[in-house]
Amino acid sequence: MANTLQCGTHGEREARFVCDHLVQNLRAASPQRLIYYAPEHAPHEPTPAIWCEGCEAVIQAEGEINAAALAVANFHGVCDFCFQRYLDAGEAAPVEA
Ligand SMILES: [Zn+2]
Ligand SMILES: [Zn+2]
Repeated sequence: MANTLQCGTHGEREARFVCDHLVQNLRAASPQRLIYYAPEHAPHEPTPAIWCEGCEAVIQAEGEINAAALAVANFHGVCDFCFQRYLDAGEAAPVEA
């Protein structure tokens, strides 16, 4: 996913995606430290997207990230610098070996 986007703060950067719930959480007056999930993919590549526990439950129920899951996640595009704030603000879900 080599998409780029124009970030209002950081200019043209690589695009990352964050589910609506994590975005809203970080915008809240007192954000919670939420667990986030990331797609399983080549570990040397940057993680292109993260989503919350609620979205993960939908993805598990659907069996894949399909249209129904995307409708729930309502991903926001953010730049790779801004994406780091979401990683720092939460906890990565434990990865099953
Ligand atoms: Zn979510
Ligand atoms: Zn940015």
